[in-house]
Amino acid sequence: MVTKTLEPCPVFIGGEWREISAGATSPVYNPSRGEVISEVPMCGADVVNEAVEAAAAAFPAWRDTPPVERARLFFRYRQLVEENFERICESVTREHGKTLAEARGSVYRGIENIEYACAAPTLLMGDTLENLARGVDCETMLQPLGVCVGITPFNFPAMVPMWMFPLALVCGNTFVLKPSEKVPLTVVMVIELLEKAGLPKGVLNVVHGGRDCVDALLRHPKVKAISFVGSTPIAKYIYETGIQHGKRVQANGGAKNYIIVMPDADVPKTVEALSTAAFGCAGERCMAGSTAIAVGKAADTVLPSLVQAARAIKVGPTDMKAQPDMGPVITAQHRERVMSLVARGEKEGAKIIADGRGVKISDAPNGFFLGATIVDEVQNEMEIAREEVFGPVLNVMRMDDLDHAIALANKSSYGNGTAIFTNSGKAAREFKNRVKAGMVGINVGVPATMAMFPFTGWDESFYGDLHIQGKEGVQFYTQQKVVTTRWFGDGVGDVWKK
Ligand code: NAD
Repeated sequence: MVTKTLEPCPVFIGGEWREISAGATSPVYNPSRGEVISEVPMCGADVVNEAVEAAAAAFPAWRDTPPVERARLFFRYRQLVEENFERICESVTREHGKTLAEARGSVYRGIENIEYACAAPTLLMGDTLENLARGVDCETMLQPLGVCVGITPFNFPAMVPMWMFPLALVCGNTFVLKPSEKVPLTVVMVIELLEKAGLPKGVLNVVHGGRDCVDALLRHPKVKAISFVGSTPIAKYIYETGIQHGKRVQANGGAKNYIIVMPDADVPKTVEALSTAAFGCAGERCMAGSTAIAVGKAADTVLPSLVQAARAIKVGPTDMKAQPDMGPVITAQHRERVMSLVARGEKEGAKIIADGRGVKISDAPNGFFLGATIVDEVQNEMEIAREEVFGPVLNVMRMDDLDHAIALANKSSYGNGTAIFTNSGKAAREFKNRVKAGMVGINVGVPATMAMFPFTGWDESFYGDLHIQGKEGVQFYTQQKVVTTRWFGDGVGDVWKK
């Protein structure tokens, strides 16, 4: 169903917002209603070239802008984002479907990245060593790379772009942002605010599209670095293609995150945390706790309350004042994919102990809804055990002891996040030391890192060397220069001697 007036979805190139009227488009939905709210232009190499050229032209002046001035832009930007906070969150909710509370949490995480970027003058300081040898001093300088690119996924329309462009810009780079074609509208809003904060023309540009657009960015000779967040097959493709074309690449991929529940875990707190980790944002998070490994008697103590909690989750449209606990998934196709993975799990012998597949919402009959689902007795050979489901589905696996639980978690090809729930310091210590994942929670279900720490996925959850956020983010967006200095003669000395 198509709404009467579609929202505009312009590109932003060289400081001008422009609608692209020719060429292919792709529909943007309000997933709560199943309605098309916009058509996003699928830009090709010509538009990408314009955007990269605009960014390249803006680079010399932006590079020479003092870091304190670049940081001031982001102080003003932070203020504008705060003033427009509810409007941004409503946009996230409208095009993505997450609840307003979830949207608010994610936009705050974005704001923290802006705040981190405001520390640019300190973050960009180098090191010095006086008298490296007699009369010789040495210093490091951190200099920008040039044109950087950000390619982002659908699940955090504001936050993931904010992981990238504030730090890239504050480090002195110029930028081309390509948001997900499924959620391009919030980016338009947040970049309009950046323009209002005083962004010079061409310093940041926005293009829209899919594979053709991305390929043109990956291959453009004036692009120096690429930040990517999305699924593992595409992350791997971006990394391989990017490095073949001489780019610096950081590419975050998908995940399958295990939460080990020990028999001594605090039951109500664990149930609450597991439920949030699995079903928050309808499971569409790379840090979703998608598999619980119940150790020993933990299944008997935790599962009955967890099933109750899952069944109590109210699903519904998120674009209304009265908010549900959980919104829809992103598209009808994605809902089908999630349901078919659950069905295949059942066929392979798993037991569905909470089944959200039949959920019907009378006041939003066309929304892409799924209820919270728990799949018990999952075995590692099953497809649902290995594939990233990215929906409100929690797998439950059972193990006799911690050793076997860690060994099972470590079989995953991914390595994004993991957690343990226990009251034993010894068990937690063993776990954090031996588990094979980059972000670890101890009695914390979603140990996603904040702006000052890197987002440290391992294995197939990350391709590259330097992660997004924190000091590694600064290293990614800069190149070091080491300057060794010696002065001949004693001109200054002569003056000093007088
Ligand atoms: P996706 O990989 O389908 O798309 C991500 C981006 O890649 C989009 O901008 C899209 O336009 C582009 N793209 C898609 N197909 C492409 C192709 N064939 N060639 C070139 N570019 C292409 O991911 P998604 O469905 O938008 O997002 C969900 C995925 O992102 C999940 O796997 C999730 O785990 C992952 N994710 C990871 C992190 C992390 O930090 N590790 C964070 C958020 C989401």
